[in-house]
Amino acid sequence: MLSSVIIGGGPGGLGPVIWAAQHGLLPEWLDRGIAVVDRQAQLGGTLGRFGIHSDSLGGSYLECLEAPGLPPELKPLRDEPLAQEMARYRDSFPPLVLVDRYMRRIGIALAGMLAERSALHLCTEARAIHLRRDGSVEVEITDGDGRESVLAARSAVVALGGQQRWMQGELRPGLALANCSMRHLMPSDRALSTAGLKEADQILSEAGQRPILILGGSHSAYSVAGAFLGLPGAERLAKGQIVILQRREPRIFYPDREVALDDLYEVAPGDICPRTQRVNRMGGLRGFGREMWRQIARRPGTPAESRVVAMDMQSLGDEALRAMIGEAALVVPSFGYRSAMLPVFDASGRRLMLNAELGGHAVGEQSRLLLSDGNSLPNLFGIGLGTGYKLPAGMGGEPNFDGQANSLWLYHNDIGAIIYRAIQELERQPAGPVVVAA
Ligand SMILES: Cc1cc2nc3c(=O)[nH]c(=O)nc-3n(C[C@H](O)[C@H](O)[C@H](O)COP(=O)(O)OP(=O)(O)OC[C@H]3O[C@@H](n4cnc5c(N)ncnc54)[C@H](O)[C@@H]3O)c2cc1C
Repeated sequence: MLSSVIIGGGPGGLGPVIWAAQHGLLPEWLDRGIAVVDRQAQLGGTLGRFGIHSDSLGGSYLECLEAPGLPPELKPLRDEPLAQEMARYRDSFPPLVLVDRYMRRIGIALAGMLAERSALHLCTEARAIHLRRDGSVEVEITDGDGRESVLAARSAVVALGGQQRWMQGELRPGLALANCSMRHLMPSDRALSTAGLKEADQILSEAGQRPILILGGSHSAYSVAGAFLGLPGAERLAKGQIVILQRREPRIFYPDREVALDDLYEVAPGDICPRTQRVNRMGGLRGFGREMWRQIARRPGTPAESRVVAMDMQSLGDEALRAMIGEAALVVPSFGYRSAMLPVFDASGRRLMLNAELGGHAVGEQSRLLLSDGNSLPNLFGIGLGTGYKLPAGMGGEPNFDGQANSLWLYHNDIGAIIYRAIQELERQPAGPVVVAA
């Protein structure tokens, strides 16, 4: 039986593997058996579809290759042209297409190791997970030729990436976007893609006086505003024509309190990460989204941007809000992501209701999958975009943070470590019935 099946070979799914690689533990884990399953023809994920820049520094992507414990198969990547290209962005924000190429290169190296010493299933779709009475799991898979089979392991890691659920949500009680009439609607996931930006450019150039409405006040919303302003179609937009309609002011990242105060940003004690002293380390806007906010909020040393305004959604009544949505040339819901999930069945074949399937957090403590009743599944883990993993206090982060920690660095470090250790711990326990953890 395998140690673990990792379903989804993006930056999230590869997180525990990359953590183990950094600490000299990967060869031994491969010998115990890891299967990685991905529907794509390569490992590395899906960031390449976005036509924007990363909001993490290039240096954060390089760190995993700099670790002393790296196996010989990964060490040469440090000196390859791709790593050198990334190194040029060590202190700035690389394009996501470069991050994607970099992750895919790491993916190729890991794929070689998996194929040689463990198991790799590319062009393969995972369909369902079945929990077994002996405490193991079985993952149903279908390969590119339609052949079905089952992978048996002590645990599985679900890392399918994120999905946007704007259709299900309500802007406020009784007012769902799905019930509003709109000229053009483009969720932020599409708006930030290369194809979506092209489409948006056309809409912006034909918008006339109509507003461009971005709904939401976090990373995606400010990234969309910044990306739109870079389009030729935005040149003729009038003052305040792009409207960010938010429920609350975004939090902003600063390297420390002094820098925040110099930027006229008010810092509450709970905004400071005790481990690093950074302000809004987990939840703050970074990169180009942060610069967008600074321009709208007219912070010192940055050119003021008058084409975008941020408005409080609560200041509008239902009818005014509905009218604004109907009037807009383009509406971009930017409400973040929830993890995509697979159907999970218990040992009697009964489908279990996962919390993520109801729109809630996918994981609880130790990044274990949560059921809708609040219990978690001991041998199923979730990692990657939209899981809602809450970092324990020991890992730092600002106490005021109540959002999602979606970061490659965290997958490859703290969260990857949590899952790796929990998997090892499971294997040390005697096999037996699955006990649902409270
Ligand atoms: C616009 C945007 C910008 C971001 N920028 C940054 C950033 O700058 N820095 C940062 O740290 N984080 C960033 N993130 C957050 C996050 O780190 C990335 O989204 C990251 O790519 C998530 O990795 P993932 O593995 O969860 O998802 P993905 O990269 O989407 O990988 C999921 C994998 O699962 C596979 N899969 C899905 N379903 C199945 C199935 N049924 N069977 C088999 N395989 C399946 C897919 O093929 C894919 O390879 C950003 C997110 C977004 C949306």
